[in-house]
Formats: sequence, C-alpha cells, structure tokens
Amino acid sequence: MIPSDETQSEHDERAGRPARAAGPHRAGFVAIIGRPNVGKSTLLNRLLGQKIAIVSPKPQTTRGRILGVVTRPDSQFCLLDTPGLHEAKGGLNARMVQSALDTLNDADVALFLIEAGSPAIDTQTKKALDQVKASRKPLLLVINKIDTVQKQELLPLMHRWSQEHPWTAIYPLSALTGDNVDGLLDAVAQHLPEGPSLFGDEVWTDVPERALCAELVREQIMRQLSQEVPYSCAVVVEDFDESERETGRRGLVRIHAQVIVERDSQKSIVIGKAGARLKEIGTLARREMERLLGCKVFLQLHVRVEPEWTRSEKGMRRAGYGEHE
Ligand code: GDP
Ligand code: MG
Repeated sequence: MIPSDETQSEHDERAGRPARAAGPHRAGFVAIIGRPNVGKSTLLNRLLGQKIAIVSPKPQTTRGRILGVVTRPDSQFCLLDTPGLHEAKGGLNARMVQSALDTLNDADVALFLIEAGSPAIDTQTKKALDQVKASRKPLLLVINKIDTVQKQELLPLMHRWSQEHPWTAIYPLSALTGDNVDGLLDAVAQHLPEGPSLFGDEVWTDVPERALCAELVREQIMRQLSQEVPYSCAVVVEDFDESERETGRRGLVRIHAQVIVERDSQKSIVIGKAGARLKEIGTLARREMERLLGCKVFLQLHVRVEPEWTRSEKGMRRAGYGEHE
C-alpha cells in the first residue's frame, strides 16, 4: 500500500507543481543486486541519467561496487551497482561475488533484479535469491527487460515470484528503454532511513574520474573481444594529466592507460593486426571519455602481460582489485 502522503506528493507532481517535501527527509544506500547480465548496470545508469557503470552483453562486466547518487528535494538515494551473483571458485570471480554480498550487507534496501521471461526459476537464480533473502533487508523485486516479452507474460511471472518472498514491491520495467522506470525510486524512498543527505547535492558518484576512464577502456575490451580474453584483462590509468584541462574545445586531458593481460597470446589479440584492434578500442573509449570529462582527451594505451594476475593476491592488487579497494 502507498501511504497517503506519498499519494499526495505524486498528485502534486502530476499537477505540475514541484513535489513538496512531505514528511521527513530520507537518505540511504540501495543495493542493485542479481545474477550476471540481468541489467543491473544499465538500470543504475538509467536512474542516474548519466553513464557511470559500463555495460556489455557479456556476463561479469562489473567487477566492483559502483556508487551513483540521486538527490531529490526530500530524499537521497545512494545506489550501489554490484557484480553479478554467480558460482565462483576462487580468484577474481570469488572476489567479485564477495564484493556484491558485502555491498548488500551495507545497504538499507535492495533491488533484486531478474529478467522477464519464463516463470521457471533456475537453480542459480534460486541460489542468488537465497543469498539476498538471508540479508533480511527490505527487498524490491525488479523485473527488467519487459521490452523483450509480451504484456500477458508478465502476470504469471509476477505471480510466480510473489510466492518466493514477501517483496516490499514488485516492479516490472525496462532499463534499456526507460519504460516504467520513473516511479521506481518513489517505491524505494519509503524504505530509506530518516536523516539528512549523505553526500552534497552536486555529488553523483564517489568513483574518481581516472577510474571511470579505466572502466571505459575495459568496456570496449568487453564489447570488442570475444570469449575469455576480456575476463583476463584489467585496465589501470598510469597517468592522468589535467594541466591543460578546461571545459570545452580547447581543454585537454592526457591519459596514459595500461591494459593488463595474462598471456602473450592475449596481448596479440588485444593489439590486433598492425595494432588495429587496440586503435579501435582506444578511439571508442576516448570518445566516451570526452563526453564524461567535457573536454578533449589524448589517450595512450599500452598492453602489458602479468601472468595469472586473476589468480594471485599480488596480481589482483597490481591490476587495481586489491582487497580493500
Ligand atoms: P549486468 O551484468 O546485470 O550489470 O547487466 P548489464 O547492465 O551489463 O546488461 C547486460 C545486457 O543486457 C546488455 O547487453 C544490456 O544492453 C542488456 N539490457 C539491460 N537492460 C535491458 C532491458 O531492459 N532490455 C533489453 N532488451 N536489454 C537490456
Ligand atoms: Mg554490471
């Protein structure tokens, strides 16, 4: 049920009046959690209205927690994107799953994302659901990708999932098209603790620009290379020179990034014939960086082999995935 004051403030918005701050101010952390590839990062970007989390058709694109802050007059949502919950045996994958579960534990509310489709629940999804339920947080079920199914398929799906848990709400939407995304945060707001904002009004993330730029290179690697190579890649920004930075056409940021791979054979794949692949990765990543930073970017990429870095603590640290990062 929607409390009456919520209904009133929605009414105000519809009537074209600015939403008044009904009731106490609320602020808190909202974890976006679910199986790989269900669209968690796409949803974060959509809710934020800005690209912060990289997206690719491959599972396990997101490697750590990413914060995106949405500030409204009467509430602040600190949204946390997480790596997908999957069965992982050691190394980087296990680290990713642990990071998702840690984030869930720190959150006030969680959005459990699934994809629209068959109402049958596979064992992996069931396992992920059990992990999320164990957190004992208020849980909203978000059924994403409704653009891929017929409307009449949704009802049986919602019915099936409503039997799994007393969800605080079930919310079908499409993160890709934006369909039905608008009211989602209103449904979340009432579960946030009362209190002042946790971040300043102008803050939209705590991820440093140089780390976002490294991610934009990794996004192109995820998208442009097939099979296992992307999973062996990490990107580290070695140099981020802002001495000529100013907004607009004349401003320039010089970025030197290293692509770390595990084997020589992967290095040649990333570089490609006569350097063509690396050039394409660099060109597309640079365009995204220019959009992010609001000025020109000069991007230099180098590929370095760090044998078995996804398997060793030292390797992961050198690739930017230290235990406490
Ligand atoms: P994550 O692994 O859960 O973070 O998933 P991503 O956000 O990286 O998305 C995985 C894939 O699903 C990408 O190819 C997205 O474009 C796609 N995707 C995400 N949301 C939607 C949606 O609402 N509809 C459709 N058709 N595709 C989506
Ligand atoms: Mg993701």
